Amino acid sequence: MGRVLRATRAFAPGDLVLREAPLLVFVDDDGGHDLVAKALKLSEEERLKLLDMYHLRPGDDPRFAIASYVTEKIEKKVRSVVSSRASESAYRFAFEAISVAKFNAHDFTTASDQSLSGLFPLASLACHSCDANCTFTTMSPSGVISYYAARRISEGDSISILYDGRNAGMPTLQRWKLMAKGRDFMCQCLRCTGPDAMSGIKCHRCQEGVSMPTFPRLLPSTRELPTIADATWLCDTCGCAPEPSMLAKQLTEVSDLTTQLLNVVGSNR
Ligand SMILES: [Zn+2]
Ligand SMILES: [Zn+2]
Repeated sequence: MGRVLRATRAFAPGDLVLREAPLLVFVDDDGGHDLVAKALKLSEEERLKLLDMYHLRPGDDPRFAIASYVTEKIEKKVRSVVSSRASESAYRFAFEAISVAKFNAHDFTTASDQSLSGLFPLASLACHSCDANCTFTTMSPSGVISYYAARRISEGDSISILYDGRNAGMPTLQRWKLMAKGRDFMCQCLRCTGPDAMSGIKCHRCQEGVSMPTFPRLLPSTRELPTIADATWLCDTCGCAPEPSMLAKQLTEVSDLTTQLLNVVGSNR
């Protein structure tokens, strides 16, 4: 586990927990030009803060195989920003700055409705949790980020946020896929490591309960995401595991139904 951000005192729900001005604000749809130009203007101390955030260095492989596309994407941006005659250190700095932005930037909208991204070194130390104890917002005229307590927080608790609220209602495997692909990270919070209610199916043994998959904890060396085949299934009512051939049949039915639904949605567009 990396560094964590801990509460220095107790907070009640709704309390302001952290407020930080951006280290760097940049236009993020210009292929990295604005980001690198502004990163180059940072002081030595500010550069250290920038490069202290999670990122890849040239030659690094992302933690997860599904995030491998990131390296090529960053290289492409760096080549468009840095001249081919640039020094190795200039190339390296641009690569690292673009990588920091890829994994840590927060979008925000300014008063002029221009869409910008910001980098917040302290706030970026908060870990992700699907059941986070803080919510955050960057909706402020000055571009600061604010964390608010979503529930009671005790002194010493680690501060967590939900990186992307759009993922909250998804089944575990889908959340993991998006996290690994977008942030080279996979959450191991209580919700992620417990039974996945979003993927539950009717228990055929007691007919009353819901059989839910629980996925094994990820080993630090694993680069592949778990699949549904790695799960252990148990009913929340009778506590029994489903009979394997029955489970396989039910999963095929769910998968066929999902395909049909997606086809209906697709044909209505
Ligand atoms: Zn989680
Ligand atoms: Zn049951």
